[in-house]
Amino acid sequence: MKSLRRPYSEQRPADIGGGVWSVPVPIPGNPLGYTLVYAIESSSGPVLVDAGWNHPDAWLALRDGLASVGMDVREVRGVVVTHFHPDHAGLAGQVREESGAWIAMHEADVALIRTMRGFEENDRRERQAGMLRRAGAGTIEIEAVTATRQQVPALPDRELHDGDLIDLPGRRLRTVWTPGHTPGHVCLHLEDADRLFTGDHVLPAITPHIGIYPYDRDDVDPLGDFLASLEKVADLGMLEALPAHEWIFQDTAARARVIGAHHEEKLAELAALLAEAGGPLTIWEVAARMTWNRPWEDLPAMLRGMAAGEAAAHLRTLEARGAIRRTEEVDPVRFTVDS
Ligand SMILES: [Zn+2]
Repeated sequence: MKSLRRPYSEQRPADIGGGVWSVPVPIPGNPLGYTLVYAIESSSGPVLVDAGWNHPDAWLALRDGLASVGMDVREVRGVVVTHFHPDHAGLAGQVREESGAWIAMHEADVALIRTMRGFEENDRRERQAGMLRRAGAGTIEIEAVTATRQQVPALPDRELHDGDLIDLPGRRLRTVWTPGHTPGHVCLHLEDADRLFTGDHVLPAITPHIGIYPYDRDDVDPLGDFLASLEKVADLGMLEALPAHEWIFQDTAARARVIGAHHEEKLAELAALLAEAGGPLTIWEVAARMTWNRPWEDLPAMLRGMAAGEAAAHLRTLEARGAIRRTEEVDPVRFTVDS
């Protein structure tokens, strides 16, 4: 996809009007480049939307970026985190240490953080290896994927629910629960300014990763949730989007519809792929036959693991719609068209 993305080195903190500032915070070693942290002014200190990746360079960018627009990180009142991923939640803990701010996140992502904090490292590796094996991954791929450790963010103090107003004196900032990218992803609607902080839910040029973990779950449907969340955001009407990556853009609703159509197309391609396969396929076999931004053979193991999660999420949605079914075997699990 053609991108208007400019590198982090060209990003600057900016007054974007209406008492809102954007502060780009780098994500070291990641092609995404940076997270846009937003600071909303209030009579009792700024409230941040997201905090950025937990890294010393990122911390300096956040602290100095806020200072450059006249805000002291020690006066931050609270941090609303759109979802638990480390490029959003990573620095929330350090902001809280410096300022005594509260951290708020949707209850479903708070529950995930609790689970992650409870896992022993060996336990995590074993669960992940089991998931990859049941999806049909090879030994080398299993070793490479399980070797990567996850950053676990700080535990929030406040749990958000759909429709909650954020504690932001003098403004109306409402929680819009948009599960899909994560189970507890939220957008935040600044109702007094017709603006929507979209997190990763609606980005101007790229689409967020939608995966299902473990791959073979049949009790949830993250892509189905994501498509419903896109409609939910589109129903809010034409709002200015303040996303966590890339750049600010007009008309969240229009972009949400384009992203929805993109996934419907992918679902149709996947159904056709299974119909032509002539027999049941493992999640790994399906992922290897789908179209990615580079050939499957060139994808490093870690990215194959994410691609398999994405393939699994699309398979699960087709299954939930009754278009395909899984076979009786569970190790590895296989999918086929219903006939
Ligand atoms: Zn994310």
